[in-house]
Amino acid sequence: MVTLLIATHNLHKVEEIQSRLGPAYRCRHLAEFSGVPTVIEDAATFAGNAVKKAATLAAWWFNTQAASRLDFLLADDSGLEVDALAGAPGVRSARFAAQTLDIAEKATDADNNARLLTLMQAVPAGRRTARFKCVLALMRAGTGGSPPAGSPELFTGTCEGWIAFACRGQAGFGYDPLFVPQGYDQSFAELGLPVKNQLSHRARALESLHAWLQTHGQRRNR
Ligand code: IMP
Repeated sequence: MVTLLIATHNLHKVEEIQSRLGPAYRCRHLAEFSGVPTVIEDAATFAGNAVKKAATLAAWWFNTQAASRLDFLLADDSGLEVDALAGAPGVRSARFAAQTLDIAEKATDADNNARLLTLMQAVPAGRRTARFKCVLALMRAGTGGSPPAGSPELFTGTCEGWIAFACRGQAGFGYDPLFVPQGYDQSFAELGLPVKNQLSHRARALESLHAWLQTHGQRRNR
């Protein structure tokens, strides 16, 4: 079995990744460990943040946990781009409402959705187009005396859709209650994980990641 550490505390992301990769892969996550460094996500792009998370946490793993078995470290950076808001919230998706609420870091999903709805109040149906984007950065874990080296492999996925006029549905996380994917009338939160896992930005990036792992992901001898 190939073991990956998913560089996130977001258990929804872990669930989506584990269910797409299947039982041949074991997905661990940061909430299982203590002393994990905080990565400031201040890059201008999803790829920049994903690479920063992957590289920082691969180094942390090598320095503190290398005795435990791990094959890869995987970081996901993702977010929502709304055309009527010139691409916002974009890389600030997790912190979208934080500025208006005057809090330092991530805002709650409910606050982010409320801010998005307020900003979109006057935008008519035909102009509510948006997309989710996901960049996955994969690094081989360092083994033995060899630290992790080289740049991460990047895998990207996009899912087009539009922003609903009110939150709908209970499944998923983040902006799922407001995002209606192209070709559907229901939000991701109404459609649920089985449908989201067929067409989401993350599902598409995971498709490429899975193909790469099938070819290059064999466990190294140690
Ligand atoms: P990250 O953890 O820094 O990548 O922040 C991603 C943020 O983008 C999340 O907190 C959500 O607000 C939003 N986001 C990313 N992917 C999804 C998704 O699949 N559904 C809903 N919201 C998402």
